[in-house]
Amino acid sequence: MKDEGIVEYVQALKDQGVVHHIGFSSHTPEAANRILDDGICDMMMFSINPAYEFELSEKTDAGSQNQRNALYQRCQREGVGISVMKPFFAGKLLDAQASPFGRKLSIMQCIQFALDRPAVLSVVPGPSNAGEMEELLRYLDCTAEDRDYSILASEKLKATVMGNCVYCSHCQPCPAGIDIALVNKCYDLAKAGDLMARGHYDKLRLHASDCLHCLHCDDHCPFAVKQSDRMSEIASFFGF
Ligand code: SF4
Ligand code: SF4
Repeated sequence: MKDEGIVEYVQALKDQGVVHHIGFSSHTPEAANRILDDGICDMMMFSINPAYEFELSEKTDAGSQNQRNALYQRCQREGVGISVMKPFFAGKLLDAQASPFGRKLSIMQCIQFALDRPAVLSVVPGPSNAGEMEELLRYLDCTAEDRDYSILASEKLKATVMGNCVYCSHCQPCPAGIDIALVNKCYDLAKAGDLMARGHYDKLRLHASDCLHCLHCDDHCPFAVKQSDRMSEIASFFGF
């Protein structure tokens, strides 16, 4: 695209105010990072679903969980919004026989999973008729229980992906009232160099230092996160 002058052409349109945002689509962290290195794009379409995130896909270039997380964190840090494609893993996650988790997920769970990744602004499934569109729109009225994707945690997941907070909020309610997922997201982003994440953390009503160490979250986290210890770590990182 660079050789053909397309980038310069689109950049010129942006400078003139004709184009407001420049984006690209990719399926692999490596390619996406190369494009982001040019600093031209502020929008990325990227395939995100639990099969890719938990390394249960055959796709060899989907990257590891760490590589993918690092990409989302980079996008958040650099102000690049992510629009998600393939949230249902080509429909396989909605079918118990085809799902690599050995169980069927709902549309709501898949959408919520994608929306919980850093920098994600929208999810763009491809409904083929009005009925499918109505199914998707049910997300807007569904309950927190409908959206809870913690059933993803199972013996099928590799040890390497367990122990990391995926921001699912399954460990709620926290007796202290802490938004555990959000506190963790701010922490992960701040550690990855996102200066604004510290500001977001500051503005939270309750912080890691408000943790009562009751161990409720440790007992209820399906992803084996030692959250009570993590709250101490987070409080020490931010200072409160
Ligand atoms: S600690 Fe566990 S249950 Fe709570 S948000 Fe993180 S991954 Fe989900
Ligand atoms: S250990 Fe802390 S963060 Fe976890 S549920 Fe108890 S008070 Fe909330």
